[in-house]
Amino acid sequence: MGRLDGKVALISGGARGQGAVEARMFSREGAAVVFGDVLDDQGKKLEAELRGGGAKATYLHLDVTRETDWRAAVATTVSAYGKLNVLVNNAGILFRATIEDTTEENWDRIMAVNVKGVFLGTKAAIPAMRQAGGGSIINISSVAGLVGSPQNTAAYSATKGAVRIFTKSTAIQHAKDGIRCNSVHPGPISTDMIKDTLTNVSAWEQRLRRLPMGRVGTPEASW
Ligand code: NAD
Repeated sequence: MGRLDGKVALISGGARGQGAVEARMFSREGAAVVFGDVLDDQGKKLEAELRGGGAKATYLHLDVTRETDWRAAVATTVSAYGKLNVLVNNAGILFRATIEDTTEENWDRIMAVNVKGVFLGTKAAIPAMRQAGGGSIINISSVAGLVGSPQNTAAYSATKGAVRIFTKSTAIQHAKDGIRCNSVHPGPISTDMIKDTLTNVSAWEQRLRRLPMGRVGTPEASW
């Protein structure tokens, strides 16, 4: 008996990294999983892997900055599996630059993926969740959304802080619909997103000193 038996989940940025692990774990716990990304080859491979193991899994192209993609993703989820119970707004990007070196284009792009993407996903999911009698929206923010950082990631931190407060408004405004909304704030996790830091020994040693456990996290749960 899985903890998510009978549930239907939609995960953004699910082709690799934490999103791919979320898709695997949700499947393992019995959910039907729809996951979207802009990395179609990797997404299709994961879809084949999950289906090969007997899971109900569908990959679709989902650019989180496009409202039409989100509408199609929710519609596909409901037509394939009957409903939508869980949305994981996981897709995200990171770049490192000082504030002075950050261009307007850099800023607009990271805001579009990390903030507008969460807004559009939430907006698209709410009617389907209301229809299902409620649901759960999980927004992957970051510890960077809670505190400032010395690591040239001011724009990234601003996006993750925005996600935190958008999460709270969503939870308050949709409590009566039975829709929960929570943000998750991981510290560094060993995925492609931070491979530049992980492969830079001196940068990484500096970073490790500030991590209470003295190690990077992994996308897989350790229980
Ligand atoms: P990752 O780079 O491996 O995965 C991010 C995924 O988002 C990729 O599959 C990418 O293709 C997808 N994506 C990017 N732009 C997209 C778009 N426009 N539309 C759809 N998908 C898009 O990194 P990850 O660590 O797995 O990141 C997952 C989430 O966790 C992100 O929101 C990230 O900000 C957050 N996070 C990461 C860390 C870390 O240290 N890795 C720490 C805290 C929070």
